[in-house]
Amino acid sequence: MTICPACRSVSTAKLFEVTADEASRHFLNPRQEPVRFRKLTSYLSDLWGSNMCDIRRCTDCGFGFADPFVAGGIEFYNLAWAHPSYPAMRWEYARTIEELADLRTDGKTVMDVGAGFGFFLDRVKNKFFKPSDIFAVDYNETSQSVLSSKGFTTFSGDVRGDSFDRLEESFDFICLFQVFEHMDNVDDVFTRLKFLLKPHGSVFIAVPNENRTYYMESHGSLIDMPPNHIGRWTKQAFDAICRRHGLQLTKCEREPFNLLGFLKQDIVNSYLRKGEEPGSLSEFVRALPRSKAQRIAQALTALAISPSRLPAWAYAVSNASTLGGNALWARIDKVSSPTDATETSSQAAINGQEQFQESA
Ligand SMILES: [Zn+2]
Repeated sequence: MTICPACRSVSTAKLFEVTADEASRHFLNPRQEPVRFRKLTSYLSDLWGSNMCDIRRCTDCGFGFADPFVAGGIEFYNLAWAHPSYPAMRWEYARTIEELADLRTDGKTVMDVGAGFGFFLDRVKNKFFKPSDIFAVDYNETSQSVLSSKGFTTFSGDVRGDSFDRLEESFDFICLFQVFEHMDNVDDVFTRLKFLLKPHGSVFIAVPNENRTYYMESHGSLIDMPPNHIGRWTKQAFDAICRRHGLQLTKCEREPFNLLGFLKQDIVNSYLRKGEEPGSLSEFVRALPRSKAQRIAQALTALAISPSRLPAWAYAVSNASTLGGNALWARIDKVSSPTDATETSSQAAINGQEQFQESA
């Protein structure tokens, strides 16, 4: 029997399954990198204990998850993405900054978990926090040196690790942007967040908007492939895990839909999905040596796919208000006492209902 990792319900249903071969094709092109491709396929079969992974969804809280619910380790990330890149700006950065502007931040501390090159921290440094009050965590060595060079106290590894045991009640704010969906043992993550937060501290989390994930998967675009993303969080799933840990889900909002951003991303993603098909033109073009000619061939192939996307776009535009943008953002607060928690979580439930209006 499979138990929902977010709410512990036993009522879950299988959506679909992926094979280790399909998953590897998502991350690597076998024509381009045959050796890495074979290594990755065998790594995934070991990780899953078979050459299959199911995607299931909880019928109570809507949490979607990989089963087995195991995260890819450092070896996975090194095989799948040797050189990670990060966007300089995301909607969730702006949303968190807007939230911080309404809170007292002077003399307070912030830690960004999965900080990348520190693009979010750059925006809050000196505006809300002194550089000496800023802490960053990232597993990637290049990121760690960039973060240290910016003057942030930098940690490697996992917040659940021993090096964080001495940091009880050290942080007023903890951020996890596009990180939590990669993590397994989510109860351990929540236990650790509560431990690290100061009384009345807040966590800001952003994860992929699950409505966009299901849109892509049901319209021939990319699969949100395990073991990169293994959790598909919903407002109800966040609420369930918060309640079980005595934390309060104060706000949960979906990024608003943006037509131009959506179209650009849909063209790229559906081209990438085609490239996962063995023997397809996209697969061949993606494997060409990197050159101007290859870039032109990629653009032409992507454009050629576009007319076939029209029905999917028509669906997306007519459902734009529920579909939303790329991210689901949440503010989670640590409340001081159990009584406090009960009172404020019923208030939060009411606020949550109001605040979780789908943005048009
Ligand atoms: Zn659940």
